[in-house]
Amino acid sequence: MSKVQKLVIIGSGPAGWTAALYAARANLDPLLLEGVPQQTGGYVLPGGQLMLTTDVENYPGYPEGVLGPQMMQDFKKQALRFDTRVEDRDVVECEFQQRPFVLKTVNAGGEKGTSRAHAVIVATGATANWLGLESEQRLARSGGGVSACAVCDGALPIFRDKRVVVIGGGDSAMEEASYLAKFASKVFIVHRRDELRASKIMQERVLGNPKCEVIWNTVITDVLGNDHITGVRFQDVNSGQERDFACGGLFLAIGHTPATKFLQGCGLDLDDGGYVKLTAPPQMFTSIEGVFAAGDVADAVYRQAVTAAGMGCQAALDAERWLAGQSIE
Ligand code: NAP
Repeated sequence: MSKVQKLVIIGSGPAGWTAALYAARANLDPLLLEGVPQQTGGYVLPGGQLMLTTDVENYPGYPEGVLGPQMMQDFKKQALRFDTRVEDRDVVECEFQQRPFVLKTVNAGGEKGTSRAHAVIVATGATANWLGLESEQRLARSGGGVSACAVCDGALPIFRDKRVVVIGGGDSAMEEASYLAKFASKVFIVHRRDELRASKIMQERVLGNPKCEVIWNTVITDVLGNDHITGVRFQDVNSGQERDFACGGLFLAIGHTPATKFLQGCGLDLDDGGYVKLTAPPQMFTSIEGVFAAGDVADAVYRQAVTAAGMGCQAALDAERWLAGQSIE
């Protein structure tokens, strides 16, 4: 039977690596399961959403900005410096009703494994929802003006004084549109219905902004441009009629999906959106004692690398104190 770990951290984004850094420096000898690329039900990629990002300009400590993948390498390097152990396995099932906890895993070759742990930090993140168009994915990956995070990318020079499109009708779309209105010449919010889902206060902020305009009952069927977006193709949901619309940026705000599929059936409380419920904020406690959560997997509101890293630190400190209380040191 495998050795019982004091602490296993699941996930390798800013929350996971920061938790590992703090836990390793507290002599908890953490094991971090960083995930396998393209495993269904698992993670975005080892490294999380930032592996799909180009310039990160809003992470403090990088005054010139940094590429997302570079930043995640730096996070990992720092955690490894204090002897965090890392395995590239996906957790596919958790047994939290027994102690020590049991995590069932699979590696890139499909080989099954098991880890046992006294404490677990879930830091598997969330993925932005995309339309799923080939053109959208190509331009998002190449930094060609398509993004799922206005707060991360909206201030980049490529969007300044340009017409930009935000798709979605929820609070995120409103927030992104208000933020983008500071830089863009005009922001068009494209929504598939004739009524917004967003809270009244967020709606009013956008509807009252002369730089924002809502285009109702419309979906996007294509993103135009080779190296950089030049426009989008709109389709009117009522008439089915299509038209091309020139713009210099597209921001997706059609929701996020937390990576919690592997938690189904383990008894951990999730909210209606599938996010792990934090039961005693500001602590990172969950509904099961000894299981902690950090980062976007437990945060539908802020979703920033810096807030995820902060939550990773909090979760590690909470786990350290909890383990000490159980006389597991
Ligand atoms: P959301 O509330 O789920 O809204 C997603 C929006 O995208 C909806 O308007 C939806 O349209 C649209 N949509 C979904 N799939 C689509 C598709 N394939 N094509 C076109 N449109 C599509 O997600 P969210 O705005 O990210 O908010 C998530 C949670 O975080 C909410 O609870 C929200 O209140 C919270 N939040 C709060 C704040 C804040 O308080 N500052 C900021 C951001 C988010 P339909 O309306 O037709 O379904």
